[in-house]
Amino acid sequence: MLNTLRKIVQEVNAAKDLKAALGIIVLRVREAMNSQVCSVYLLDTDTNRFVLQATEGLNKRSIGKVSMAPSEGLVGLVGSREEPLNLEDAASHPRYRYFAETGEKRYASFLGAPIIHHRRVMGVLVIQHKERRQFDEGEEAFLVTMSAQLAGVIAHAEATGSIRGLQGKGIHEAKFIGVAGSPGAAVGTAVVMLPPADLDVVPDKSVEDIETELQLFSGALESVRKDLHALSAKLATQLRPEERAVFDVYLMMLDDDAIGNEINRIIRTGQWAQGALRQVVNDHVQRFEMMDDAYLRERASDIKDLGRRLLGYLQEARTQSLSYAENTILVSEELSPGMLGEVPVGKLIGLVSVRGSGNSHVAILARAMGIPTVMGVVDLPYSKVDGIEMIVDGYHGEVFTNPSAELSRQYRAVVEEERELSKGLDTLCKLPCITLDGVRMPLWVNTGLLADVARAQERGAEGVGLYRTEVPFMIRDRFPSEKEQLAIYREQLEAFHPLPVTMRTLDVGGDKALPYFPIKEDNPFLGWRGVRITLDHPEIFLVQIRAMLKASEGLNNLRILIPMISGLQELEESLHLIHRAWGEVLDEGVDVPMPPVGVMIEVPAAVYQIRELARQVDFISVGSNDLTQYLLAVDRNNPRVADLYDFLHPSVLHALKLVVDGAHAEGKPVSICGEMAADPASAVLLLALGFDSLSMNATNLPKVKWLLRQISKAMASELLERLLKMDSPAVIYSTLQLELRNLGLERMINPAATIEA
Ligand code: PEP
Ligand code: MG
Repeated sequence: MLNTLRKIVQEVNAAKDLKAALGIIVLRVREAMNSQVCSVYLLDTDTNRFVLQATEGLNKRSIGKVSMAPSEGLVGLVGSREEPLNLEDAASHPRYRYFAETGEKRYASFLGAPIIHHRRVMGVLVIQHKERRQFDEGEEAFLVTMSAQLAGVIAHAEATGSIRGLQGKGIHEAKFIGVAGSPGAAVGTAVVMLPPADLDVVPDKSVEDIETELQLFSGALESVRKDLHALSAKLATQLRPEERAVFDVYLMMLDDDAIGNEINRIIRTGQWAQGALRQVVNDHVQRFEMMDDAYLRERASDIKDLGRRLLGYLQEARTQSLSYAENTILVSEELSPGMLGEVPVGKLIGLVSVRGSGNSHVAILARAMGIPTVMGVVDLPYSKVDGIEMIVDGYHGEVFTNPSAELSRQYRAVVEEERELSKGLDTLCKLPCITLDGVRMPLWVNTGLLADVARAQERGAEGVGLYRTEVPFMIRDRFPSEKEQLAIYREQLEAFHPLPVTMRTLDVGGDKALPYFPIKEDNPFLGWRGVRITLDHPEIFLVQIRAMLKASEGLNNLRILIPMISGLQELEESLHLIHRAWGEVLDEGVDVPMPPVGVMIEVPAAVYQIRELARQVDFISVGSNDLTQYLLAVDRNNPRVADLYDFLHPSVLHALKLVVDGAHAEGKPVSICGEMAADPASAVLLLALGFDSLSMNATNLPKVKWLLRQISKAMASELLERLLKMDSPAVIYSTLQLELRNLGLERMINPAATIEA
């Protein structure tokens, strides 16, 4: 059974368009179920009717003609109840409706299953028999399984149709959900970057003249090396050397003792250079792709990219000569950092990748460059979108193809507004963040890449609330030494001096892995993460703390923050190690005071131990990204459950209140450094909750400052009191938006949030 299912899905997947896909479905399902009729009805969203789209057994001339509303007929009943319907004698059912043109009178029994994709009823799959008999449980289960599997395939084919007008309904707007990679909005033209050369179709070939092949390959290697240097130089104005380190990793992969050497070895066995390249690259790709660890899987795409470049030269094919629109939105199945550099400077306004997550190198670089990006848009038929109009909503992780004039207008307004705002907000840089009733709210920044430093300073940050130390760790090929770390940290501390810099100890695991420290787990977010790793590896933890302490010599603006604390013991062990490192540094003759140490509250258990934890530290910082993920049990990177991820959920708000009140009861200041702090509307609530400072990305800092300067804490507190009594995230959200709009503050509320699409 499973085999039959798999075969049908494979065949349908390979169909060239929706019509062909439906044709295969009805043919194969009828065969597999030994029935006389199999038909598919799809819901036409314009007319809200189920239309017969394919059939084996009924009169084919009725295709496209027979249709019924959800309130009509048995098909309508299956669609509207979203449940299968199994009838021995269909004609005796009160909802039965007879369509003479189909010739279905001859068929007595009826089994229908709804086709549902991401909660949306897309159609109904029906089988019918001549004789009166109830379909058995096995048959019903098969049809339900079949239609669940086919839903995704049909959705994909439909999406392709909407893009290229293959459904006879013309081209129309479609929305695809992914994961937010880098904030911002962009309206432009899609440029699809396909891999320049296809390694998979390279055949094996024996050669006699091995020397020539070796030379050919060495020439290709040299050309790719040159390309990588050129790309890196091209990006020099946009990226700091730190961020361009990824190109060094590429270059290293090409080194003689890495991939390059393996290929040479195979060539020496008599294989031509292209065949040797295919073997080695595919072998590495397969190994990486099978890894559970998200970061390591990403590396497969780096190797593929290198393989394609080498093949391009081996085939003497020049690198793709794409023409780039003025407003290019670069789309690829798998964007690579190298692809970013291929677009002429000034033309790239957005990025879309079918694969990958917010953790990919591309997303990290896009954030540093401020390019709106959506990752993981799994349903996007990317190869079909070249040249069409597209909108990238990097706030919400959404992509729109062929947007309506109205939607484009709304998003253009968002882009324009953003531009105007950032101009207007420059003047705010030197002004304090103070409410109308005189309450000061220090605004800090989150940093990781060096590019963040300049932007933070331009925007008047009052300190660094979160320096993600794992970022410089991620773009290397081994742990940085104590000396190397010291230099990196010193640069941060000096750049902001005398303002405080909060350095978080290494927070890897979950979706953030280091290429040189693989972690293989079934449930990485519930596994070996953050402080759990560093406590198990005191040699890593101690080196990092020592580097931080030494880097702060003479500056004394360091604060240390510990992530992923889920209980007191972890905190006590961490504090013990920090004191030990301090003692060691003092013994070495470095004169530094013990810096303030804080704990991140991002695991629900820590919320309920806030007083005990606060007693042990100097400050508290809430990681609302993870706290929301763990409170709601929603993976923050999974597009399927993105709708459920909501930091305005009442449980999150109540948890935040517990944390603030608990920390204050112990006399400790409390900050928040998750994305929630960067959302201007939410910042109003954070002010009311009593947070002592907010830490956010530099891009949003001026907006939050502008908004907080327009309101009073008294008003915010009154609003919070009302919201805390509400039980629905949606109602909380709309009440908050409405309230701010009524105050004439809509300019600054996340602009794209108001777009309904
Ligand atoms: C958080 O969890 O809110 C946080 C700030 O840390 P990260 O996003 O790096 O996990
Ligand atoms: Mg976190």
